[in-house]
Amino acid sequence: MDTLPLPSLQMYTVFSGLGLFYAVAYVLTASDSNFVNALWDDAWCATAVVNFVCCLFFQLMSFLHKSVFGTLRSTEKRHLQDKFWNFVFYKFIFIFGVLNIQEIREMLVWCSWFALIGCFLLTSQLCKDRFLYLSFSPSTPSSSHAKMIMFLSCILVSCAGLFMVCAIIGWQFGFNYFAFVFSEIYVLFTLTLLTLIRQIIHLWDMHHEGLWENRNVYTYYAEFVLEISSLSVQFFHHLHMLLFANMFLSVASLILLMKLRFLYQEIQHKLKRHHNYVMVKHTLERSFNLVGPNELRHIQETCAICWEKMNTARQLPCGHVFHFGCLRSWLEQDPVCPTCRQTLDTSLQRNSREPTTGDQRSGVRTRRRRNWLLYFNGASIASWLPTFSLELHQPPPHHHNTFNADMDREVNHVHTMFPDVPVNAIIVDLANTHSVSQTVDNILSGLVPSRTSNQNTTEDHQDDVTPATSTSDIDEATVRQRDTGGKNEEKEREEENGKGAQSSDFSSTDVPSFQTRKQELINAARKKYLQKHSHLKQC
Ligand SMILES: [Zn+2]
Ligand SMILES: [Zn+2]
Repeated sequence: MDTLPLPSLQMYTVFSGLGLFYAVAYVLTASDSNFVNALWDDAWCATAVVNFVCCLFFQLMSFLHKSVFGTLRSTEKRHLQDKFWNFVFYKFIFIFGVLNIQEIREMLVWCSWFALIGCFLLTSQLCKDRFLYLSFSPSTPSSSHAKMIMFLSCILVSCAGLFMVCAIIGWQFGFNYFAFVFSEIYVLFTLTLLTLIRQIIHLWDMHHEGLWENRNVYTYYAEFVLEISSLSVQFFHHLHMLLFANMFLSVASLILLMKLRFLYQEIQHKLKRHHNYVMVKHTLERSFNLVGPNELRHIQETCAICWEKMNTARQLPCGHVFHFGCLRSWLEQDPVCPTCRQTLDTSLQRNSREPTTGDQRSGVRTRRRRNWLLYFNGASIASWLPTFSLELHQPPPHHHNTFNADMDREVNHVHTMFPDVPVNAIIVDLANTHSVSQTVDNILSGLVPSRTSNQNTTEDHQDDVTPATSTSDIDEATVRQRDTGGKNEEKEREEENGKGAQSSDFSSTDVPSFQTRKQELINAARKKYLQKHSHLKQC
């Protein structure tokens, strides 16, 4: 899309202004009747006027974006562009494939409607992206959150107005048009409301003393209810369009079918994930007993997952205790004790190992199934028949960060600053933080292992770490492996630093291995010091 010679917003405004000028001049010279009627009667003049009004609206939104978000980050820009072209594509299909509009004035009405709703949708999407980015750093000033909350509230108020417009349309033009307009507004409404709720929960948590244990539950249910309702509305909207068009052998219906299939899979995926969530929660409540504050004082006071103080906790059969919420999100991924890796009971194991499991909120990567529209395996019928497939490509969600040119650039950027830190470690950290400055902070505070300090620990993971030569062609699976590798490394580093000692009691077999490793590290440091010293002498 970047290669297309599309005009910028400024150029577009200039051309729209010229168009309006010519239209007005033409109407003034050509007809003597009522000016407004004459303008609307001529199809091209009407187009010029509507186009100019849309253009003014785009300018207004662009100004608001600049004042609220400042300069957009490259990922936000790319995401916005993807969303925009996706939106334009589906609306084109809707206007010409489903409604099959021939009359230019009717088309103008729809175009201005989509310009309005599209602008709001993109703004809401931008708020979501920016919130995800801001929520990673605790040092974000409250004013930037407040600005965005104001912005989102304005969109919500506009949604209320649009719902009223929708009711009037339903009254005037019947159910079909009501349903078309309603579903558009509803999708916008849920997207905005969800971002707003997440942001309010985040702010509340930031200004809340200690750990807010129910935060994850509220966020999860808000996400689940709103996303499922939005997906269902979209599903019925597309089904409605398909039936309304009443032409099943056309390109438009093919595209609608692809979209329907995608939406169906998404709903199925969400429901499976929810089922898993509920099962893990019930198993936790049923099988692992609750530990009160008095007992906790004797066992351990901080949770080894989030390092926060515990008031109540759940105890695993191995004796380790964790926050309920922390343990739940851990067990959704992996049914083992986070501290000693002891495998837990079998029902949990079955639930957690389901292929569709994955806590998206915590940014854990899940491999998305391929969305085949058509898969024809000719070889299974006759050897000379070809095998072909048609695949619907959906851009991956923002938090499932992809390794692409941007990522390469960011990795190179960090690597030039810290040539001592291995590229793999930078990639892993960038994948978690989504921000160069955050990764730089992590490196400076020693959270990312560097080549010189961590030779021993990285060697231990050689068997499960796949070295990558280029960041662009890394398979998701290897990234996941390296993610866990990185996590283990970090954990071990922390344990070596003595932080782990306060929460995890090592088994007796671990102690000698840690002691030998400590000795090795001391030896390495001594050797390095001596080398440096001899080098100075030579100088
Ligand atoms: Zn915790
Ligand atoms: Zn344990």
